[in-house]
Amino acid sequence: MNKSDSERLAAVLENIGFTQTENETEANLIFVNACSVRQSAIDRIFGKKKRWNKRRETGDLKTFLLGCVLPKDKPKMEKAFDNIFDIKDIVNLPEILKKSDIKLKQSKKDGQNKFAPDSDYFHIAPSNSSKVSAFVPIMRGCDHFCAYCAVPYAKGPEISRPARDIANEAKKYIKQGFKEIALLGQNVNSYGLIRPRWKMVDEKTKKTYPPESWVLDPKSSKPPFVQLIEEIDKIPGRFWIRFITSHPMDMSIDLIKAIADGKNITPYIHLPAQSGNNEVLKKMNRQYTIEWYKEIIKNIRKYIPDAVISTDIIVGFPNETKKQFQDTMDLFDFAQFDIAYIAKYSPRPGTAATHYDDNISLEEKRRREKILTKKLSEIALARNQKLVGKDVEVLAESIHGQIGFGHTREFRGVKFPYSGPIGEFVKVKITKANPWGLMGEYVKR
Ligand code: SAH
Ligand code: SF4
Repeated sequence: MNKSDSERLAAVLENIGFTQTENETEANLIFVNACSVRQSAIDRIFGKKKRWNKRRETGDLKTFLLGCVLPKDKPKMEKAFDNIFDIKDIVNLPEILKKSDIKLKQSKKDGQNKFAPDSDYFHIAPSNSSKVSAFVPIMRGCDHFCAYCAVPYAKGPEISRPARDIANEAKKYIKQGFKEIALLGQNVNSYGLIRPRWKMVDEKTKKTYPPESWVLDPKSSKPPFVQLIEEIDKIPGRFWIRFITSHPMDMSIDLIKAIADGKNITPYIHLPAQSGNNEVLKKMNRQYTIEWYKEIIKNIRKYIPDAVISTDIIVGFPNETKKQFQDTMDLFDFAQFDIAYIAKYSPRPGTAATHYDDNISLEEKRRREKILTKKLSEIALARNQKLVGKDVEVLAESIHGQIGFGHTREFRGVKFPYSGPIGEFVKVKITKANPWGLMGEYVKR
């Protein structure tokens, strides 16, 4: 999501005459797109403050902060940045820059320094960092309020983007030659749904929620996200559709069947479990049980036998016992994850879980992270090894030296000697497997 937001920010800056640099010391403007999910990312920003302040004092540098920032962190951040703004405000970026005494050149596109103040930031065409894969955000924010998580506080409520806009943006990218459409959201499968606590009419704006534009066919019994991906799947052309992240609570059999039956929908499902134990899940306010989660896994394996399933896990949530952690280990055996993002619990100010004592020592969190990673690597290696000797289809995404890199439909990373071109679907014979990826030889057709 942050990469996608940064692509839109880059487009606005390029439009008003700025160019990007890879070298931080060369920059006159620095924009930090923050992530507050874990404390370590926030600490890295503070780590840079001293160096920046030296240059800010001489007037050589201005710094701006956007992205996820918790209300409690804001006062400290204000000292390190010339301005803090929300990604939605990038439509007014020229004004924001002017307030910080930054002189602007004329806009390249329309000869003005201004975007229409009411324009939706989703309408800004991003400066795509990849020419192969296009990020398409479909929603913002989150309504779930998991006890540990900063996102609902930093990003606000779940708002979906009109389905037609999304389908049109996907169509445009496919026409331009992009080979992969990555639909993004905190919980993509909650797209277009309303939570009971939502007011149907916003008293201030008199707008009705959800707006009809979120759903392609209100009469259909299929969830709005399923309608959306099936619509994108119909676009003519050779391309893949990916989507991250799916929330277990809103995972439906319709979605699993849509992936199984879709022509272009790839069988990669990122489904964060967080824990394998019901008591921990309840304290985390995850709104599903481990039995429900396992039922989803069973259905995925039944309808999409080749699927790669990945997950997010938090180890060392307050009071997590060794037995409860063992339930998470057992879940890995059951689910056979290929990929997992394992995080040590990090208390986020203002979230519900801060009422609990962060009582699992760092050493114990590290130990749990290490043994779970070891289990994951054994499972992933065994699964990857089954592909050795087989031909797989890979989307060639980049080349470093003489080595090409890409992903299979199931999102397995593959390296293979290759001289191009990128953006092609190529055949690769797998020669070697390790837990985190595959190696192979390019098979000329
Ligand atoms: N919406 C997605 C997850 C988005 S946040 C979902 O609910 O499934 C990405 C991941 O960061 C989470 O899945 C979680 O594993 C991790 N995370 C969030 N808050 C955290 C915290 N306080 N400490 C450690 N990890 C955290
Ligand atoms: Fe955070 Fe939970 Fe929302 Fe995911 S669903 S973004 S973990 S609050």
